[in-house]
Amino acid sequence: MFAVSDVGCVREKNEDSVHIDPERGLAVLADGMGGHRAGDVASRLAVETIINQLQQAAHGHDPQQLLQTALTEANRAVYQASRENAEQFGMGTTAVAVLVEQDRAHIAHVGDSRAYLLRDAKLLQKTEDHSYLARIEHLGLEAQDLIQDSAMAKMLVRAIGIEAEVSIDRCEIATEPGDCLLLCSDGLTDMLCDDEILEILTASDISDATAASLVHSANRKGGPDNISVILICV
Ligand code: CA
Repeated sequence: MFAVSDVGCVREKNEDSVHIDPERGLAVLADGMGGHRAGDVASRLAVETIINQLQQAAHGHDPQQLLQTALTEANRAVYQASRENAEQFGMGTTAVAVLVEQDRAHIAHVGDSRAYLLRDAKLLQKTEDHSYLARIEHLGLEAQDLIQDSAMAKMLVRAIGIEAEVSIDRCEIATEPGDCLLLCSDGLTDMLCDDEILEILTASDISDATAASLVHSANRKGGPDNISVILICV
């Protein structure tokens, strides 16, 4: 596993958080929101809560249920913290978490941080963004005509910590030798299209340098947002 989180070229602080635990096959990435309202606190708290929950669980638990519980706990923790501190009121975060087993990868997410599967030189997005734009595209409508305002299009319809309860999306992948998973925040995917990401991922063997190269390419295009990347070779 390789992880990089970068502030980008414009922002003053990094509101993304990442954590990898290769021994246990755990990876979590979160993209905090709220600017002055402590998005960095939200993403850090979510990642810590999810990792703690997953690390405490003994073997033999259902991985899907573990992820469900971990993200639910993260939602509770961020929501509670935002109620207890006036300066953190309204903070929230995305979260995408992966639990890798021998021949399976389990993914859970809320928000627009994504998980991709790289297999046979093809890149497949395994998560659906919980944004207005994605919602409208899902309905088969001409999104561009409906949403002129790109800030509106990017608004999340679901995030960790905004409401007392949150609905969590989960999926499972039967992994094959040579597969690689990419987790990333929108600071990457707003700057690079899937083909550009694929080109970097397949340029050479996956390594620290691959993760750095993804971040570097997003920064070369302006890096307006924080950029975070986790690569998992399974
Ligand atoms: Ca972001």
